[in-house]
Amino acid sequence: MLSETAPINLVVLGPPGAGKGTQAVAFAERYEVPKISTGDILRDAVQAGSDLGQRAETIMNAGSLVDDQLMIAIVRERLTRSDVVRGFVIDGFPRTVAQATSLDEIMVGRGELFVIEITVPDETLVERVARRRVCEQCGNVASVAAGVERRCAKCGGELVLRSDDTESIVRERLRVYAKETRPLVDYYSGRPTFRGVDGNQPATIVGTALDEAVQDIVAASTVVVAASEGSAG
Ligand code: ADP
Ligand code: ZN
Repeated sequence: MLSETAPINLVVLGPPGAGKGTQAVAFAERYEVPKISTGDILRDAVQAGSDLGQRAETIMNAGSLVDDQLMIAIVRERLTRSDVVRGFVIDGFPRTVAQATSLDEIMVGRGELFVIEITVPDETLVERVARRRVCEQCGNVASVAAGVERRCAKCGGELVLRSDDTESIVRERLRVYAKETRPLVDYYSGRPTFRGVDGNQPATIVGTALDEAVQDIVAASTVVVAASEGSAG
């Protein structure tokens, strides 16, 4: 059951290039909740050259997954911070059924988990990732036309290809997604808090669809609450 003050705890599911990161940032701004991205956490660790970063770098550049226990520990710790009391949006986690089961355990007593899958056809994903660039200075994600070098629209920094965004690594990441992460759709889809959103449209439209899906989940829960109160009285 959801009251108006219930936290919105959102998991954004979807393959590489589906637009999870873009949507998570925008959602976090609209709902004023923190955005948690395990990919960003790992990339920050790589930048910092920490133990975690050194372990993660090779794995990420092979298109493989960092091990479950490590990822679960990172997310468990992140969700102990007080900024998540009003909810959060998480992108890049869970990526395996083991991570999803642990997240359910972590969430006990913390309100509903909203799960939204963003779907995009495979061919489009490969194209999008090929055009994706990241600002070296501010981390802003941009899309560029093939072969055209551009600067970051936000800060003028240099736009670079993410080291795991080369075509062969992307194909491996898509393969890993199909094998390890896609099963999460079955894991979650029977829940009343699961929705799918068509990601093959402009980002702002996807954002609107995502908001509608979230509002739909909230409304559906309210109906459940109202009905049970009605039958009790
Ligand atoms: P994308 O959404 O484009 O696939 P991310 O930025 O989410 O990329 O993740 C990049 C890489 O970081 C993954 O390919 C994987 O190696 C690692 N990673 C991120 N999150 C997880 C996770 N929850 N479990 C295991 N590995 C992860
Ligand atoms: Zn920038």
